[in-house]
Amino acid sequence: MDLFEYQARDLFAKHGVPVLAGEVIDTPEAARQVTAELGGRAVVKAQVKTGGRGKAGGVKLASDPDDAVEKAGQILGMDIKGHTVHKVMLAQTAEIADEYYVSYLLDRANRTFLAMASVEGGMDIEEVAATKPEALARIPVDANDGVTEAKAREIVEAARFPAEIADQVAQVLQTLWTVFVKEDALLVEVNPLVKTADGTVLALDGKVSLDANAEFRQPDHGAFEDKAAANPLEAAAKAKGLNYVKLDGQVGIIGNGAGLVMSTLDVVAYAGERHGAVKPANFLDIGGGASADVMANGLEIILGDPDVRSVFVNVFGGITACDEVANGIVQALALLKNKGEDVTKPLVVRLDGNNAELGRKILSDANHPLVEQVDTMDGAADRAAELAAK
Ligand code: GDP
Ligand code: MN
Repeated sequence: MDLFEYQARDLFAKHGVPVLAGEVIDTPEAARQVTAELGGRAVVKAQVKTGGRGKAGGVKLASDPDDAVEKAGQILGMDIKGHTVHKVMLAQTAEIADEYYVSYLLDRANRTFLAMASVEGGMDIEEVAATKPEALARIPVDANDGVTEAKAREIVEAARFPAEIADQVAQVLQTLWTVFVKEDALLVEVNPLVKTADGTVLALDGKVSLDANAEFRQPDHGAFEDKAAANPLEAAAKAKGLNYVKLDGQVGIIGNGAGLVMSTLDVVAYAGERHGAVKPANFLDIGGGASADVMANGLEIILGDPDVRSVFVNVFGGITACDEVANGIVQALALLKNKGEDVTKPLVVRLDGNNAELGRKILSDANHPLVEQVDTMDGAADRAAELAAK
């Protein structure tokens, strides 16, 4: 889960990373009081989960409370790379003498953690990485050792931070590591980390991504969820323990097992090229135990997506045999009908593997007018795409 800047800032403050005072508002008028409390001046910053806000005009300096109201009015409602600004953070201003970059992230390829740091921070670290890779220090961090004082000094030296701020930066690197570990983050990034005119080092912008797999031991993290932005179907699927992902095509996809579901997406996308560029609308992995309930929940979610014009159910029977899946589909259709959500979109079903014959017979006997069976994955994908194109 990616956090908003103000949430990252709160986590930084909690663990002792130096930040400036700030407050989040969602109406321009609220900026007056907050700016007065912050000392009469403020930086007005768009809160959207994307970078490059500064370049997009989403970070503005306000010289007094009235100006803050005006700037907040300009930024609220702004569209930054497809993200609408619903909140702005007002933060105490800093007189910036220099801008740096520091981050920690999980380096999956090298099976370790990685510290990155540069004295060329500010707006475009991606560009620095691409055009001047030597200006971005990359130091592996061993999970067992973490960022000790010695490791922090190593990072400071590798990135060539100026001597007069070396102690402060080393301290920030250690507290930032505490944030990374204690909050179960996959990424913490500070850009810019600044030196102010009086020589103080501060984190002026923060980006944090939390590891959803650690939710069970992070009871406070639920509060960070952006409920307004969550796709309602994704939220409903999550509540039912299903893995559902929204895409932007027309064919709904249900399968069992991540690998099969992924290859089903490919096959449907290829087949779709023959039918007016039809694509997968979403996918749902019903996992191992495809009971009638699971199937009903899955179908309900897939069919609840207004973009769906046909559904492809692709199941390879293993531990869950095809006859159970077929019964699941039949019962799911009846369940949905009873709930007044009668299925009106065509379903193409491909059953293979354990007890496929029996499963196919159950579906044929049920003789539902909208359910069609195709025996091969390619054939079924083609039919589902064809139906979606109609
Ligand atoms: P981003 O563009 O989305 O990464 O947003 P940032 O929060 O990093 O802000 C972009 C730039 O705005 C920074 O690199 C700074 O130059 C500037 N900025 C941010 N906060 C302040 C501040 O308190 N005072 C001043 N003078 N500039 C700021
Ligand atoms: Mn930034």
